[in-house]
Amino acid sequence: MDPITHGALAYLLYVGYVMGRVIISKSTQTHHLPATWAFVPLAIGSQFPDLIDKPLAYWGVLVSGRSLAHSAFSLLLIGVLLNSVTWIQSRDTVSRLPTRLRASIPTAFVIGYAGHLLGDAAYGLLSGEFFSVRFLVYPVSALSRSSGDELAPWVRVINLYRDPSTVIHVEIVAAALIVFVGLRVWKYSRKRADKLN
Ligand SMILES: [Zn+2]
Repeated sequence: MDPITHGALAYLLYVGYVMGRVIISKSTQTHHLPATWAFVPLAIGSQFPDLIDKPLAYWGVLVSGRSLAHSAFSLLLIGVLLNSVTWIQSRDTVSRLPTRLRASIPTAFVIGYAGHLLGDAAYGLLSGEFFSVRFLVYPVSALSRSSGDELAPWVRVINLYRDPSTVIHVEIVAAALIVFVGLRVWKYSRKRADKLN
């Protein structure tokens, strides 16, 4: 999956998570919607596995461009670490991090990260080609090098977008754009209604 689709999928998953929380808490408060603060960790999380594995595979440190950071074990470990750091931060009353940012970072990052693994594994899982998604259990399963790992990461991205229509999953990106615009319009109309009341 390409970086733009990874970002769009992460956004949809995050909105789904936030909507789920809103429904469970039966709240209609707009502050439960995806906060601006959350976009940065969400975006970084959605690209994180490729940002780690692709360069390290190219430089020969890792055997494959889908290995260490594409493993579900790494996701679990980083999720626990981030939550622990955030919990320690929440006890620090003089923390310089805004409360909303502290609350958003681990969840948004982990959802972005998990969305990336889901995006990379989706085809293999849906088609039953489980051998192709063995990177999810690295290092339990051994991996082999692919021809793409010989390419510099930046060359790989340039090559991907030479013909964007062949790599971008338009349905996912379009859905993310529609949800994004829809939420902005809904939020704006709620603000206007609150002002008039
Ligand atoms: Zn990847």
